[in-house]
Amino acid sequence: MNRKRVVVTGLGDVGILAAIRLAPHTDVVGISVKPALVSGQELGVRLSRPDDWARDYWIPFDKFRRLDRVRKVQATLTGVDLAARTVFGLGEDGATIAEEYDTLVISTGVSNGFWRRPTLQSAAEISADIQAAHQRLAGAGSVIVLGGGAAAISSAVNLATTWPGKCIDLYFPGDRALVGYHPRTWNRVQGRLTELGVGLHPGHRAVLSNASADSEITSEPVQWSTGQPPASADAVLWAIGRVQPNTGWLPQELLDEDGFVRVTSELQVPGQHGVYAVGDVAATDPLRSSARNRGDALVAHNIRAEFAGKKMRTYRTPGRRWGSLVGEQANGLEVFLPTGQAFRLPSWSVKRLVMPYVVRWGMYRGVRDNQPFRAS
Ligand SMILES: Cc1cc2nc3c(=O)[nH]c(=O)nc-3n(C[C@H](O)[C@H](O)[C@H](O)COP(=O)(O)OP(=O)(O)OC[C@H]3O[C@@H](n4cnc5c(N)ncnc54)[C@H](O)[C@@H]3O)c2cc1C
Repeated sequence: MNRKRVVVTGLGDVGILAAIRLAPHTDVVGISVKPALVSGQELGVRLSRPDDWARDYWIPFDKFRRLDRVRKVQATLTGVDLAARTVFGLGEDGATIAEEYDTLVISTGVSNGFWRRPTLQSAAEISADIQAAHQRLAGAGSVIVLGGGAAAISSAVNLATTWPGKCIDLYFPGDRALVGYHPRTWNRVQGRLTELGVGLHPGHRAVLSNASADSEITSEPVQWSTGQPPASADAVLWAIGRVQPNTGWLPQELLDEDGFVRVTSELQVPGQHGVYAVGDVAATDPLRSSARNRGDALVAHNIRAEFAGKKMRTYRTPGRRWGSLVGEQANGLEVFLPTGQAFRLPSWSVKRLVMPYVVRWGMYRGVRDNQPFRAS
């Protein structure tokens, strides 16, 4: 029997995992703008300790053993012909590419700030971007972090931990930050921010400027639509969660009113045979949480089940955000559960057990030595 052909569009956190799971069973083609996994996770560690971050979150595709059998195409997706089962893109040289599929996996994620953009980049360009943001913040005496989600909190904690001499202030619109998480999570993180000397400013909603719309690190005073006097710092980090789905290449009929891909609980696109969506781009639930809740495994299972005529599984969400918020610290890795409880994995166990065995072998099925790139 001919092996089926699955095209995975977007090789980010979820697309890579889905491709890894499918590779032994089908012919997989992965199309992505980057030549590597460049994760959107752990922004604070990326900005403050980029070498540490890169070891686990910027991994060239050729380091993943299971991706050896996946054909990787570096290109910007531009369209899909659903009737002809073909996706289109533009390669590095500007040439059009066309890839036929039996099954399509849409995992193009979202854009968010300067750290998550669907731009075609070489490794050197990715490196330069990461280094520039790090240097910009390293050179600032004071930093304003805007936002109340995981990216803002992670940034405030890590900037204050790495550079205790800097004046760091966190501004967020509500009474509390981390609204999608259990209230206990914020209580705990708030204590940590206070210990680190981060100024906390609830009830501040920033007026978006042109520069902030592009989510650069800015230096102009921040104006507030909530009426407070403007605030200034050497560097202003906009982590305001204005995520935009990377779906400009898809026909409108696949999208919901916010531009995310509509899916059934099996992660199939309704009315489309053999088209699936997973990760931040998929409108699974209000938090669009399939990335962190093993959507990769579900989509891979259901694709194989569909080929074999077997029963599919359905997606369930815990209904609250959970996970690591601030990344690995000197005292280990804290994980916040949907119930608001937290547990800490000691540093030795993260380095000697979790990363090598659980993540690199268990999840990725083997990662060759990833020479940590030197960002600084
Ligand atoms: C194992 C795991 C653990 C996690 N743990 C946590 C946690 O502890 N805490 C937490 O907050 N979150 C966690 N997350 C979730 C994480 O915050 C995001 O949800 C996740 O990074 C989203 O992955 P994604 O693949 O959907 O998007 P992305 O990683 O952004 O991948 C999308 C990819 O598609 C590419 N792309 C986009 N448009 C195009 C185009 N037109 N052409 C070509 N390529 C394109 C992008 O450049 C990118 O490479 C976890 C996720 C995973 C998988």
